[in-house]
Amino acid sequence: MNRFELSCNIIKVHNMKHLKEVAAEVKLKSGFSMPIIGLGTWQLKGNECVGTIKTAFQLGYRHFDTAISYGNEEEIGKALGGVDRESIFITSKVPPIDLKYEDVITSCRQSLERLKTNYLDLLLIHWPNDEIPIKNTFSAFKKLVDQKIIRSFGVSNYTIERLETELPIAKDMGLVISANQVEYHPGLNQEDLLDYCVNKDIALVAYSPLGRGDILAESVLGEIGQNYSKTKVQVSLRWLTQKGIVAIPKSSSKQHLKENLDIFDFSLTDEEIEIIDDLGNSQRLINPELF
Ligand code: NAP
Repeated sequence: MNRFELSCNIIKVHNMKHLKEVAAEVKLKSGFSMPIIGLGTWQLKGNECVGTIKTAFQLGYRHFDTAISYGNEEEIGKALGGVDRESIFITSKVPPIDLKYEDVITSCRQSLERLKTNYLDLLLIHWPNDEIPIKNTFSAFKKLVDQKIIRSFGVSNYTIERLETELPIAKDMGLVISANQVEYHPGLNQEDLLDYCVNKDIALVAYSPLGRGDILAESVLGEIGQNYSKTKVQVSLRWLTQKGIVAIPKSSSKQHLKENLDIFDFSLTDEEIEIIDDLGNSQRLINPELF
């Protein structure tokens, strides 16, 4: 079985009865499911944030990615007030400065208040912090999972080396690492990290999946898109999701929001996937080693 077939196996595609859109989910190691397309919200603030989240929900988005450091949890809570909580998936992230046991617990409680919810679907370590012993941090996340305040725990900006070191520690403590959110787009194809995460049953979540717009300069994506009447962005998001990678593109434009969700009615061939795979892995926007 090649990785493409393997990826398809972990994607459950289902029709949302009340909506025309088709959604897909990835099953996490924690047992919970995560919609394979989510909305990134970095830099969305104030009324623009509230309006965008409401529009995205109406269009069919059910997965929202935020972080304490984005300063928009309150707006997201406001926009999603009144929505059936079980129908949506919310991720937030604890900043590196708050990774001491008590700080993790306090930050999480404050996130819940701002988001007006009593649980988070996924809470991530936003960036590692080597100055705080990882066991101290992990024990706080373990408590939050045990108390059902967070449904799943994950990390972000973790390299293979760091996962190799910290996965056994988490395992010894009975803490499941369900996801790793990293930069991933056609200009930064992190194959080795993807293989590693697939092998460890850790969902890979692609941040900056459009390279913050840089992928629009890639002509081959347009050529492939012509075969399906799809845009470069749709081809890129399809490439990620066919690999079983969750993608969280950010947009504040209604047209883009629609476009980014409309990727479930076509499939790239193995050959097209390989062409995009080969675009390279050198166009990194954020270097985790610098943090
Ligand atoms: P991105 O999603 O790769 O790109 C966003 C840019 O693409 C925006 O300028 C947006 O403009 C444009 N865009 C969106 N859809 C488009 C479309 N269909 N056609 C043309 N342009 C389109 O960048 P990102 O915001 O850096 O990453 C996404 C999310 O990942 C963030 O919002 C955040 O939630 C998360 N993230 C996490 C980390 C971490 O450390 N864990 C780091 C960075 C980001 P419009 O708004 O005009 O559509």
